[in-house]
Amino acid sequence: MAARCAATAIAGGIASSLRTVYDFIVVGGGTAGSVIASRLAEIRRWNILLIEAGEEAGDADPSWRLRAEPQAGTCLGAPDKRCEIPAGKGLGGNTLINNMLYVRGTPSDYDGWAEQGNVDWSYRNVLPYFLKLEDVRIKSSTREQRGKGGPVSILELPKKSPIVDTFVAACNRLGLRTVDYNAETNQTVGYVQLTRRRGKRITAADAYIRPFRTVFTNLHIMTAARVTRVLIDPRTKQATGVTVLTNGIERRVRSNKEVILCAGPIFTPHLLLLSGIGPKDSLEPLGISVHADLPVGVEMNLRHVAFPLHLATNRTIADSPTPTKLEAMAFLNAALPQTHRHFGASHEILFQYEPRDSREYFSLGLIHLRPASRGFLRLNTTNALHPPLIYTNFFTDPSDMEQVVRGIATCVKIVQSDEFSKLELKARKLQAPPCDRLRYGTDEYWRCVVRHVGHVADQPYGTCPMGSRSNGRSVVSAELRVHGVDRLRVADASTMLPVANGHTQATVYMIAEKASDMIKSYWDWGNELERRR
Ligand SMILES: Cc1cc2nc3c(=O)[nH]c(=O)nc-3n(C[C@H](O)[C@H](O)[C@H](O)COP(=O)(O)OP(=O)(O)OC[C@H]3O[C@@H](n4cnc5c(N)ncnc54)[C@H](O)[C@@H]3O)c2cc1C
Repeated sequence: MAARCAATAIAGGIASSLRTVYDFIVVGGGTAGSVIASRLAEIRRWNILLIEAGEEAGDADPSWRLRAEPQAGTCLGAPDKRCEIPAGKGLGGNTLINNMLYVRGTPSDYDGWAEQGNVDWSYRNVLPYFLKLEDVRIKSSTREQRGKGGPVSILELPKKSPIVDTFVAACNRLGLRTVDYNAETNQTVGYVQLTRRRGKRITAADAYIRPFRTVFTNLHIMTAARVTRVLIDPRTKQATGVTVLTNGIERRVRSNKEVILCAGPIFTPHLLLLSGIGPKDSLEPLGISVHADLPVGVEMNLRHVAFPLHLATNRTIADSPTPTKLEAMAFLNAALPQTHRHFGASHEILFQYEPRDSREYFSLGLIHLRPASRGFLRLNTTNALHPPLIYTNFFTDPSDMEQVVRGIATCVKIVQSDEFSKLELKARKLQAPPCDRLRYGTDEYWRCVVRHVGHVADQPYGTCPMGSRSNGRSVVSAELRVHGVDRLRVADASTMLPVANGHTQATVYMIAEKASDMIKSYWDWGNELERRR
Protein backbone atom coordinates (compact mmCIF):
# COMPACT_ATOMS: atom_id res chain seq x y z
CA MET A 1 0.00 0.00 0.00
CA ALA A 2 2.62 2.47 1.13
CA ALA A 3 4.50 2.35 -2.14
CA ARG A 4 1.41 3.47 -4.03
CA CYS A 5 1.08 6.71 -2.12
CA ALA A 6 1.83 9.26 -4.87
CA ALA A 7 4.09 12.11 -3.73
CA THR A 8 1.44 12.52 -1.13
CA ALA A 9 1.40 15.26 1.44
CA ILE A 10 0.98 13.51 4.73
CA ALA A 11 -0.12 16.63 6.55
CA GLY A 12 -0.03 16.30 10.29
CA GLY A 13 2.01 13.20 9.67
CA ILE A 14 -0.29 10.53 11.10
CA ALA A 15 -0.95 8.69 7.92
CA SER A 16 -1.30 5.00 7.56
CA SER A 17 0.65 5.26 4.32
CA LEU A 18 3.79 6.44 6.11
CA ARG A 19 6.49 3.83 5.94
CA THR A 20 8.75 3.14 8.88
CA VAL A 21 11.80 2.85 6.65
CA TYR A 22 12.85 4.89 3.60
CA ASP A 23 15.96 4.83 1.49
CA PHE A 24 16.49 8.55 1.97
CA ILE A 25 15.05 10.97 4.47
CA VAL A 26 15.32 14.61 3.42
CA VAL A 27 14.80 16.98 6.33
CA GLY A 28 13.35 20.38 5.37
CA GLY A 29 11.18 20.95 2.31
CA GLY A 30 12.69 24.35 1.54
CA THR A 31 14.87 25.50 -1.32
CA ALA A 32 17.46 22.72 -1.24
CA GLY A 33 15.16 20.04 0.18
CA SER A 34 12.63 20.42 -2.65
CA VAL A 35 15.37 19.98 -5.25
CA ILE A 36 16.99 16.99 -3.62
CA ALA A 37 13.77 15.11 -2.85
CA SER A 38 12.59 15.59 -6.41
CA ARG A 39 15.90 14.64 -8.04
CA LEU A 40 16.32 11.52 -5.89
CA ALA A 41 12.77 10.44 -6.69
CA GLU A 42 13.88 10.18 -10.33
CA ILE A 43 15.38 6.83 -9.29
CA ARG A 44 12.08 5.08 -9.11
CA ARG A 45 13.16 2.14 -7.02
CA TRP A 46 14.24 4.43 -4.18
CA ASN A 47 11.75 5.53 -1.53
CA ILE A 48 12.14 9.09 -0.39
CA LEU A 49 10.59 10.85 2.57
CA LEU A 50 10.62 14.66 2.62
CA ILE A 51 9.78 16.14 6.02
CA GLU A 52 8.79 19.80 6.35
CA ALA A 53 7.98 21.58 9.60
CA GLY A 54 5.63 24.09 7.95
CA GLU A 55 2.45 23.66 5.99
CA GLU A 56 2.07 22.37 2.46
CA ALA A 57 1.01 25.69 0.97
CA GLY A 58 3.16 27.73 3.36
CA ASP A 59 1.87 28.74 6.78
CA ALA A 60 -0.54 31.65 7.22
CA ASP A 61 2.57 33.39 8.49
CA PRO A 62 5.26 31.52 6.55
CA SER A 63 8.10 32.77 8.72
CA TRP A 64 9.87 31.32 11.74
CA ARG A 65 9.98 34.77 13.37
CA LEU A 66 13.49 34.31 14.65
CA ARG A 67 15.34 37.07 16.47
CA ALA A 68 19.02 37.38 17.20
CA GLU A 69 20.23 38.07 20.72
CA PRO A 70 20.38 41.81 21.46
CA GLN A 71 23.61 43.48 20.46
CA ALA A 72 24.66 47.04 21.16
CA GLY A 73 24.86 49.26 18.12
CA THR A 74 22.85 47.31 15.58
CA CYS A 75 19.20 46.84 14.54
CA LEU A 76 18.37 49.68 16.96
CA GLY A 77 15.11 50.40 15.16
CA ALA A 78 13.88 46.79 15.41
CA PRO A 79 11.48 45.57 18.12
CA ASP A 80 13.50 45.06 21.34
CA LYS A 81 16.53 46.17 19.31
CA ARG A 82 16.99 42.58 18.18
CA CYS A 83 17.78 41.85 14.53
CA GLU A 84 15.19 39.72 12.81
CA ILE A 85 16.69 36.59 11.25
CA PRO A 86 14.38 35.99 8.32
CA ALA A 87 13.54 32.34 7.64
CA GLY A 88 10.68 30.87 5.62
CA LYS A 89 8.53 28.01 6.86
CA GLY A 90 6.44 25.71 4.66
CA LEU A 91 6.98 23.70 1.49
CA GLY A 92 9.35 25.96 -0.46
CA GLY A 93 11.06 27.35 2.66
CA ASN A 94 12.66 30.70 2.07
CA THR A 95 11.47 30.84 -1.50
CA LEU A 96 7.99 31.46 -0.07
CA ILE A 97 9.07 34.84 1.29
CA ASN A 98 12.37 35.86 -0.27
CA ASN A 99 12.82 38.85 -2.55
CA MET A 100 13.25 36.50 -5.53
CA LEU A 101 16.54 38.11 -6.61
CA TYR A 102 18.53 35.62 -8.61
CA VAL A 103 22.26 36.30 -8.31
CA ARG A 104 24.81 33.57 -8.85
CA GLY A 105 28.06 35.17 -7.74
CA THR A 106 31.20 35.31 -9.79
CA PRO A 107 33.48 32.59 -11.19
CA SER A 108 36.22 33.68 -8.80
CA ASP A 109 33.91 32.91 -5.84
CA TYR A 110 33.66 29.26 -6.75
CA ASP A 111 37.29 29.02 -7.81
CA GLY A 112 37.98 30.29 -4.29
CA TRP A 113 35.98 27.37 -2.87
CA ALA A 114 38.11 25.02 -4.96
CA GLU A 115 41.34 26.66 -3.77
CA GLN A 116 40.26 25.88 -0.23
CA GLY A 117 40.40 22.17 -1.06
CA ASN A 118 36.90 21.70 -2.50
CA VAL A 119 38.25 21.07 -5.98
CA ASP A 120 34.98 19.82 -7.35
CA TRP A 121 33.30 23.17 -6.63
CA SER A 122 35.31 25.33 -9.04
CA TYR A 123 33.28 27.54 -11.38
CA ARG A 124 33.92 25.10 -14.21
CA ASN A 125 32.39 22.34 -12.11
CA VAL A 126 29.39 24.23 -10.77
CA LEU A 127 28.40 26.04 -13.97
CA PRO A 128 26.66 22.95 -15.44
CA TYR A 129 24.37 22.90 -12.39
CA PHE A 130 23.44 26.56 -12.74
CA LEU A 131 22.67 25.84 -16.40
CA LYS A 132 20.63 22.79 -15.45
CA LEU A 133 18.39 24.59 -12.98
CA GLU A 134 17.81 27.81 -14.93
CA ASP A 135 15.12 28.76 -17.37
CA VAL A 136 16.35 32.23 -18.25
CA ARG A 137 14.05 34.42 -20.32
CA ILE A 138 16.15 37.54 -20.58
CA LYS A 139 17.19 38.87 -23.98
CA SER A 140 20.48 40.38 -22.90
CA SER A 141 21.78 37.22 -21.26
CA THR A 142 24.86 35.49 -22.58
CA ARG A 143 23.69 32.24 -24.08
CA GLU A 144 26.64 29.97 -23.24
CA GLN A 145 26.60 31.02 -19.62
CA ARG A 146 22.86 30.89 -18.93
CA GLY A 147 20.47 27.96 -18.87
CA LYS A 148 17.18 27.47 -20.71
CA GLY A 149 14.48 24.91 -19.98
CA GLY A 150 15.39 24.13 -16.36
CA PRO A 151 12.85 24.13 -13.51
CA VAL A 152 13.60 27.62 -12.10
CA SER A 153 12.20 30.38 -14.22
CA ILE A 154 14.18 33.64 -14.20
CA LEU A 155 12.81 36.88 -15.61
CA GLU A 156 13.34 40.61 -15.49
CA LEU A 157 10.56 42.86 -14.22
CA PRO A 158 8.03 43.31 -17.04
CA LYS A 159 7.60 46.99 -16.22
CA LYS A 160 10.27 49.31 -14.89
CA SER A 161 10.08 52.81 -13.51
CA PRO A 162 11.47 55.59 -15.70
CA ILE A 163 14.05 56.60 -13.10
CA VAL A 164 15.78 53.24 -12.89
CA ASP A 165 17.38 54.02 -16.25
CA THR A 166 18.82 57.17 -14.72
CA PHE A 167 20.36 55.07 -11.96
CA VAL A 168 21.86 52.67 -14.50
CA ALA A 169 23.24 55.57 -16.58
CA ALA A 170 24.77 57.17 -13.47
CA CYS A 171 26.45 53.85 -12.61
CA ASN A 172 27.75 53.57 -16.17
CA ARG A 173 29.38 56.97 -15.70
CA LEU A 174 31.20 55.52 -12.68
CA GLY A 175 32.62 52.82 -14.95
CA LEU A 176 30.14 50.02 -14.28
CA ARG A 177 29.06 48.05 -17.33
CA THR A 178 25.44 47.18 -18.04
CA VAL A 179 25.73 43.47 -18.64
CA ASP A 180 24.18 40.27 -17.39
CA TYR A 181 25.61 40.17 -13.87
CA ASN A 182 25.01 36.44 -13.76
CA ALA A 183 27.37 35.88 -16.63
CA GLU A 184 30.01 38.57 -16.43
CA THR A 185 32.25 38.99 -13.50
CA ASN A 186 32.75 42.32 -11.86
CA GLN A 187 31.89 46.03 -11.77
CA THR A 188 28.44 45.66 -13.27
CA VAL A 189 25.03 47.24 -13.07
CA GLY A 190 21.83 45.66 -14.28
CA TYR A 191 18.11 45.21 -13.86
CA VAL A 192 17.11 42.66 -11.28
CA GLN A 193 16.59 39.06 -12.37
CA LEU A 194 13.83 37.38 -10.43
CA THR A 195 12.61 33.84 -9.83
CA ARG A 196 9.17 34.42 -11.31
CA ARG A 197 6.92 33.04 -14.00
CA ARG A 198 3.88 34.70 -15.57
CA GLY A 199 3.92 37.51 -13.03
CA LYS A 200 4.07 35.16 -10.05
CA ARG A 201 6.69 34.03 -7.55
CA ILE A 202 8.15 30.60 -8.31
CA THR A 203 8.99 28.73 -5.14
CA ALA A 204 11.27 25.71 -4.97
CA ALA A 205 8.16 23.57 -4.45
CA ASP A 206 6.54 25.09 -7.58
CA ALA A 207 9.66 24.35 -9.58
CA TYR A 208 10.61 20.90 -8.30
CA ILE A 209 7.74 19.26 -6.40
CA ARG A 210 4.31 20.29 -7.69
CA PRO A 211 4.83 19.41 -11.38
CA PHE A 212 5.79 15.84 -10.40
CA ARG A 213 3.29 15.11 -7.63
CA THR A 214 1.44 12.49 -9.56
CA VAL A 215 4.52 11.12 -11.29
CA PHE A 216 6.76 10.35 -8.33
CA THR A 217 4.86 7.70 -6.44
CA ASN A 218 8.06 6.96 -4.53
CA LEU A 219 8.19 10.39 -2.89
CA HIS A 220 6.27 10.88 0.34
CA ILE A 221 5.97 14.35 1.79
CA MET A 222 5.17 14.98 5.43
CA THR A 223 4.20 18.53 6.27
CA ALA A 224 3.56 20.11 9.68
CA ALA A 225 6.13 17.60 10.91
CA ARG A 226 9.20 18.70 12.80
CA VAL A 227 12.34 16.63 12.95
CA THR A 228 13.72 16.78 16.47
CA ARG A 229 16.88 14.67 16.18
CA VAL A 230 18.98 12.61 13.83
CA LEU A 231 19.35 9.05 15.11
CA ILE A 232 22.98 8.01 15.21
CA ASP A 233 24.24 4.56 16.13
CA PRO A 234 26.94 5.31 18.73
CA ARG A 235 28.83 2.14 17.84
CA THR A 236 29.00 2.49 14.06
CA LYS A 237 28.67 6.30 13.98
CA GLN A 238 26.07 5.93 11.27
CA ALA A 239 22.91 7.98 10.86
CA THR A 240 20.01 5.55 10.91
CA GLY A 241 16.98 7.83 10.76
CA VAL A 242 15.27 10.71 12.53
CA THR A 243 12.75 11.40 15.24
CA VAL A 244 9.86 13.51 14.03
CA LEU A 245 7.15 15.31 15.94
CA THR A 246 3.67 15.52 14.46
CA ASN A 247 0.49 16.47 16.28
CA GLY A 248 2.35 16.20 19.59
CA ILE A 249 3.49 12.63 18.93
CA GLU A 250 7.14 11.80 18.42
CA ARG A 251 7.95 8.86 16.18
CA ARG A 252 11.03 7.34 14.60
CA VAL A 253 11.52 6.91 10.89
CA ARG A 254 14.50 4.90 9.67
CA SER A 255 16.70 5.40 6.62
CA ASN A 256 18.37 2.61 4.67
CA LYS A 257 20.79 4.81 2.85
CA GLU A 258 21.10 8.43 4.06
CA VAL A 259 19.62 11.24 6.06
CA ILE A 260 20.07 14.53 4.21
CA LEU A 261 19.68 17.71 6.22
CA CYS A 262 18.21 20.63 4.27
CA ALA A 263 16.66 22.53 7.19
CA GLY A 264 18.48 25.76 6.33
CA PRO A 265 21.35 27.66 7.90
CA ILE A 266 19.78 27.94 11.37
CA PHE A 267 17.89 24.69 11.81
CA THR A 268 20.37 22.34 10.16
CA PRO A 269 23.09 23.24 12.69
CA HIS A 270 20.39 23.20 15.39
CA LEU A 271 19.54 19.58 14.53
CA LEU A 272 23.19 18.58 14.38
CA LEU A 273 23.82 20.07 17.82
CA LEU A 274 20.75 18.39 19.30
CA SER A 275 21.98 15.11 17.81
CA GLY A 276 25.44 15.31 19.39
CA ILE A 277 27.37 16.76 16.48
CA GLY A 278 29.05 20.00 17.39
CA PRO A 279 31.59 21.57 19.71
CA LYS A 280 32.19 19.18 22.59
CA ASP A 281 32.75 22.05 25.05
CA SER A 282 29.27 23.41 24.54
CA LEU A 283 27.35 20.12 24.14
CA GLU A 284 28.65 18.20 27.14
CA PRO A 285 27.50 20.79 29.71
CA LEU A 286 23.98 20.30 28.29
CA GLY A 287 24.24 16.55 28.87
CA ILE A 288 24.40 15.73 25.14
CA SER A 289 26.72 12.84 24.29
CA VAL A 290 29.00 13.82 21.48
CA HIS A 291 29.29 11.72 18.33
CA ALA A 292 31.53 14.15 16.45
CA ASP A 293 33.33 17.18 17.84
CA LEU A 294 32.87 19.65 14.98
CA PRO A 295 32.60 23.46 14.68
CA VAL A 296 28.84 23.48 14.00
CA GLY A 297 27.48 27.03 14.17
CA VAL A 298 30.81 28.39 15.40
CA GLU A 299 30.89 30.80 12.49
CA MET A 300 27.99 32.24 10.58
CA ASN A 301 28.28 34.45 7.53
CA LEU A 302 25.69 37.12 7.30
CA ARG A 303 25.42 40.46 5.68
CA HIS A 304 23.90 43.68 6.74
CA VAL A 305 21.73 45.82 4.48
CA ALA A 306 20.58 49.37 5.00
CA PHE A 307 18.69 51.83 2.83
CA PRO A 308 20.12 55.09 4.18
CA LEU A 309 19.43 57.30 1.13
CA HIS A 310 15.82 58.17 0.35
CA LEU A 311 15.17 60.72 -2.37
CA ALA A 312 12.22 62.53 -3.87
CA THR A 313 12.31 63.46 -7.55
CA ASN A 314 10.50 66.32 -9.27
CA ARG A 315 8.43 63.80 -11.26
CA THR A 316 4.80 63.12 -10.61
CA ILE A 317 3.49 59.65 -11.34
CA ALA A 318 1.90 59.39 -14.75
CA ASP A 319 0.55 55.84 -14.54
CA SER A 320 -1.42 54.11 -11.86
CA PRO A 321 0.85 53.71 -8.82
CA THR A 322 3.00 50.61 -8.64
CA PRO A 323 4.23 49.13 -5.38
CA THR A 324 7.71 49.59 -3.99
CA LYS A 325 10.09 47.35 -5.85
CA LEU A 326 13.77 46.58 -6.18
CA GLU A 327 14.62 47.31 -9.79
CA ALA A 328 18.37 47.30 -10.27
CA MET A 329 21.58 46.35 -8.59
CA ALA A 330 25.20 47.34 -9.00
CA PHE A 331 28.29 45.44 -7.92
CA LEU A 332 31.37 47.54 -7.50
CA ASN A 333 34.62 47.89 -5.70
CA ALA A 334 34.48 50.81 -3.28
CA ALA A 335 36.52 49.24 -0.50
CA LEU A 336 39.45 50.66 1.38
CA PRO A 337 42.42 49.29 -0.58
CA GLN A 338 44.25 47.91 2.46
CA THR A 339 41.22 45.87 3.56
CA HIS A 340 40.06 44.58 0.21
CA ARG A 341 42.27 41.76 -0.89
CA HIS A 342 39.85 40.26 -3.38
CA PHE A 343 39.52 40.77 -7.07
CA GLY A 344 35.71 40.85 -6.95
CA ALA A 345 33.19 43.44 -5.86
CA SER A 346 33.22 44.81 -2.33
CA HIS A 347 29.78 46.47 -2.31
CA GLU A 348 26.34 45.98 -3.76
CA ILE A 349 24.04 48.93 -4.31
CA LEU A 350 20.31 48.30 -4.68
CA PHE A 351 17.94 50.67 -6.43
CA GLN A 352 14.43 50.61 -5.02
CA TYR A 353 11.53 52.50 -6.61
CA GLU A 354 9.17 53.87 -3.96
CA PRO A 355 6.29 55.88 -5.40
CA ARG A 356 4.37 57.80 -2.76
CA ASP A 357 2.01 60.79 -2.55
CA SER A 358 1.76 60.75 -6.40
CA ARG A 359 5.49 61.43 -6.65
CA GLU A 360 8.36 59.30 -7.80
CA TYR A 361 10.65 58.53 -4.92
CA PHE A 362 13.46 56.06 -4.73
CA SER A 363 15.99 54.80 -2.25
CA LEU A 364 19.44 53.29 -2.49
CA GLY A 365 20.40 50.33 -0.35
CA LEU A 366 23.85 49.12 0.44
CA ILE A 367 25.36 45.75 1.27
CA HIS A 368 29.02 45.43 2.21
CA LEU A 369 29.76 42.08 0.63
CA ARG A 370 32.79 40.88 2.53
CA PRO A 371 32.35 41.77 6.18
CA ALA A 372 35.13 40.81 8.56
CA SER A 373 32.68 40.30 11.46
CA ARG A 374 31.17 36.84 11.76
CA GLY A 375 28.14 35.72 13.72
CA PHE A 376 27.58 32.41 15.43
CA LEU A 377 24.85 30.32 17.00
CA ARG A 378 24.70 27.94 19.92
CA LEU A 379 22.34 25.71 21.80
CA ASN A 380 21.15 26.73 25.24
CA THR A 381 18.61 23.99 25.81
CA THR A 382 18.03 20.44 24.66
CA ASN A 383 14.38 21.26 23.93
CA ALA A 384 14.22 20.79 20.17
CA LEU A 385 11.34 23.23 19.86
CA HIS A 386 13.41 26.16 21.11
CA PRO A 387 15.53 27.77 18.40
CA PRO A 388 19.23 28.19 19.08
CA LEU A 389 20.68 31.47 20.34
CA ILE A 390 21.80 33.55 17.36
CA TYR A 391 24.46 36.27 17.51
CA THR A 392 24.95 38.51 14.49
CA ASN A 393 28.10 40.30 15.75
CA PHE A 394 27.48 43.02 13.15
CA PHE A 395 30.20 45.68 13.13
CA THR A 396 32.22 44.01 15.88
CA ASP A 397 35.14 44.46 13.49
CA PRO A 398 35.24 48.27 13.17
CA SER A 399 36.47 48.13 9.57
CA ASP A 400 33.00 46.90 8.53
CA MET A 401 31.29 50.16 9.46
CA GLU A 402 34.01 52.12 7.65
CA GLN A 403 33.37 50.05 4.55
CA VAL A 404 29.65 50.81 4.81
CA VAL A 405 30.38 54.54 5.08
CA ARG A 406 32.59 54.26 1.98
CA GLY A 407 29.80 52.52 0.13
CA ILE A 408 27.36 55.27 1.11
CA ALA A 409 29.83 57.84 -0.25
CA THR A 410 29.57 56.02 -3.61
CA CYS A 411 25.75 56.11 -3.41
CA VAL A 412 25.98 59.86 -2.83
CA LYS A 413 28.24 60.19 -5.87
CA ILE A 414 25.65 58.37 -7.95
CA VAL A 415 22.77 60.63 -6.93
CA GLN A 416 24.90 63.73 -7.40
CA SER A 417 25.77 62.75 -10.97
CA ASP A 418 24.73 64.80 -14.02
CA GLU A 419 22.26 62.06 -14.89
CA PHE A 420 20.23 62.74 -11.77
CA SER A 421 20.56 66.54 -11.81
CA LYS A 422 17.47 67.04 -14.00
CA LEU A 423 15.34 65.22 -11.44
CA GLU A 424 16.11 67.90 -8.80
CA LEU A 425 16.45 65.31 -6.07
CA LYS A 426 15.53 66.19 -2.53
CA ALA A 427 16.81 64.02 0.31
CA ARG A 428 14.27 62.70 2.80
CA LYS A 429 15.55 62.25 6.31
CA LEU A 430 14.78 58.86 7.80
CA GLN A 431 12.78 58.25 10.96
CA ALA A 432 15.71 57.63 13.27
CA PRO A 433 15.21 60.16 16.08
CA PRO A 434 18.55 59.59 17.84
CA CYS A 435 20.27 60.58 14.58
CA ASP A 436 18.34 63.84 14.16
CA ARG A 437 20.80 65.82 16.23
CA LEU A 438 23.54 64.96 13.71
CA ARG A 439 24.15 66.89 10.52
CA TYR A 440 22.62 65.11 7.52
CA GLY A 441 25.22 63.61 5.26
CA THR A 442 28.13 63.49 7.68
CA ASP A 443 29.86 60.15 8.29
CA GLU A 444 28.62 60.30 11.86
CA TYR A 445 25.06 60.69 10.62
CA TRP A 446 25.37 57.72 8.26
CA ARG A 447 26.84 55.50 10.98
CA CYS A 448 23.93 56.39 13.23
CA VAL A 449 21.31 55.76 10.52
CA VAL A 450 22.86 52.45 9.50
CA ARG A 451 22.79 51.24 13.10
CA HIS A 452 19.10 52.18 13.34
CA VAL A 453 17.55 51.19 10.03
CA GLY A 454 19.87 48.38 8.94
CA HIS A 455 18.90 44.75 9.15
CA VAL A 456 19.99 41.28 8.07
CA ALA A 457 20.25 40.92 4.29
CA ASP A 458 18.49 37.79 3.01
CA GLN A 459 19.65 35.12 5.43
CA PRO A 460 22.76 33.77 7.08
CA TYR A 461 24.85 31.01 5.54
CA GLY A 462 27.94 28.92 6.19
CA THR A 463 27.07 27.56 9.64
CA CYS A 464 28.27 24.05 8.60
CA PRO A 465 30.87 24.93 5.98
CA MET A 466 32.38 22.46 3.56
CA GLY A 467 36.08 21.65 3.57
CA SER A 468 38.64 19.17 4.76
CA ARG A 469 38.36 18.03 8.36
CA SER A 470 42.00 18.91 8.97
CA ASN A 471 41.36 22.64 8.54
CA GLY A 472 39.44 22.60 11.82
CA ARG A 473 36.76 24.95 10.45
CA SER A 474 34.60 22.70 8.35
CA VAL A 475 31.68 20.48 9.27
CA VAL A 476 31.12 18.62 6.00
CA SER A 477 33.45 17.28 3.34
CA ALA A 478 33.43 18.49 -0.26
CA GLU A 479 30.90 15.68 -0.88
CA LEU A 480 28.77 17.33 1.83
CA ARG A 481 29.09 14.36 4.19
CA VAL A 482 29.27 15.21 7.87
CA HIS A 483 32.83 14.53 9.05
CA GLY A 484 33.03 11.46 11.23
CA VAL A 485 29.40 10.39 10.82
CA ASP A 486 28.42 8.02 8.07
CA ARG A 487 25.25 8.28 5.97
CA LEU A 488 24.55 11.85 6.99
CA ARG A 489 24.80 14.76 4.58
CA VAL A 490 24.04 18.45 4.72
CA ALA A 491 23.02 20.22 1.54
CA ASP A 492 21.67 23.74 2.00
CA ALA A 493 22.86 27.28 2.76
CA SER A 494 24.68 25.95 5.84
CA THR A 495 27.44 24.45 3.71
CA MET A 496 28.16 27.56 1.64
CA LEU A 497 31.52 29.28 1.63
CA PRO A 498 31.60 33.03 0.99
CA VAL A 499 30.36 34.41 -2.32
CA ALA A 500 30.73 37.99 -3.50
CA ASN A 501 27.07 38.84 -3.77
CA GLY A 502 24.52 39.68 -1.18
CA HIS A 503 22.19 36.82 -2.06
CA THR A 504 22.15 33.10 -1.64
CA GLN A 505 19.22 31.35 -3.30
CA ALA A 506 20.91 30.75 -6.67
CA THR A 507 23.90 29.17 -4.94
CA VAL A 508 21.65 27.01 -2.76
CA TYR A 509 19.76 25.75 -5.83
CA MET A 510 23.10 24.91 -7.44
CA ILE A 511 24.39 23.14 -4.30
CA ALA A 512 21.22 21.06 -4.16
CA GLU A 513 21.39 20.07 -7.83
CA LYS A 514 25.03 19.08 -7.45
CA ALA A 515 24.41 17.25 -4.18
CA SER A 516 21.65 15.23 -5.86
CA ASP A 517 24.07 14.03 -8.51
CA MET A 518 26.70 13.24 -5.87
CA ILE A 519 24.21 11.12 -3.94
CA LYS A 520 22.97 9.38 -7.07
CA SER A 521 26.43 8.55 -8.28
CA TYR A 522 27.46 7.26 -4.84
CA TRP A 523 24.49 4.91 -4.45
CA ASP A 524 23.68 4.19 -8.04
CA TRP A 525 27.10 3.85 -9.56
CA GLY A 526 27.05 1.63 -12.60
CA ASN A 527 23.30 1.69 -12.94
CA GLU A 528 21.45 3.56 -15.57
CA LEU A 529 20.08 6.80 -14.13
CA GLU A 530 16.58 7.77 -15.02
CA ARG A 531 17.33 11.41 -15.45
CA ARG A 532 15.13 14.24 -16.45
CA ARG A 533 16.01 17.82 -17.21
C1 LIG B 1 13.00 37.44 3.68
C2 LIG B 1 14.07 36.81 2.84
C3 LIG B 1 14.45 37.42 1.65
C4 LIG B 1 15.43 36.83 0.86
N1 LIG B 1 15.67 37.34 -0.36
C5 LIG B 1 16.54 36.71 -1.18
C6 LIG B 1 16.72 37.16 -2.52
O1 LIG B 1 16.04 38.05 -3.00
N2 LIG B 1 17.66 36.53 -3.26
C7 LIG B 1 18.42 35.49 -2.78
O2 LIG B 1 19.28 35.00 -3.50
N3 LIG B 1 18.25 35.03 -1.55
C8 LIG B 1 17.31 35.58 -0.75
N4 LIG B 1 17.08 35.09 0.49
C9 LIG B 1 17.88 33.95 0.95
C10 LIG B 1 17.56 32.62 0.26
O3 LIG B 1 16.19 32.54 -0.02
C11 LIG B 1 18.03 31.49 1.17
O4 LIG B 1 19.40 31.60 1.46
C12 LIG B 1 17.81 30.11 0.59
O5 LIG B 1 16.53 30.00 0.04
C13 LIG B 1 18.05 29.09 1.69
O6 LIG B 1 17.69 27.81 1.27
P1 LIG B 1 17.82 26.57 2.27
O7 LIG B 1 17.42 25.38 1.51
O8 LIG B 1 19.16 26.60 2.89
O9 LIG B 1 16.79 26.85 3.45
P2 LIG B 1 15.22 27.04 3.43
O10 LIG B 1 14.72 27.41 2.09
O11 LIG B 1 14.93 27.95 4.57
O12 LIG B 1 14.64 25.62 3.78
C14 LIG B 1 14.68 25.06 5.07
C15 LIG B 1 13.36 24.37 5.33
O13 LIG B 1 13.50 23.50 6.44
C16 LIG B 1 12.35 23.56 7.25
N5 LIG B 1 12.74 23.12 8.58
C17 LIG B 1 13.52 23.76 9.47
N6 LIG B 1 13.68 23.01 10.57
C18 LIG B 1 13.01 21.86 10.35
C19 LIG B 1 12.83 20.69 11.14
N7 LIG B 1 13.39 20.56 12.34
N8 LIG B 1 12.05 19.70 10.64
C20 LIG B 1 11.49 19.81 9.41
N9 LIG B 1 11.64 20.92 8.63
C21 LIG B 1 12.42 21.91 9.10
C22 LIG B 1 11.93 25.01 7.16
O14 LIG B 1 10.59 25.21 7.52
C23 LIG B 1 12.22 25.33 5.70
O15 LIG B 1 11.11 25.07 4.88
C24 LIG B 1 16.10 35.65 1.30
C25 LIG B 1 15.73 35.04 2.50
C26 LIG B 1 14.70 35.60 3.25
C27 LIG B 1 14.26 34.87 4.48
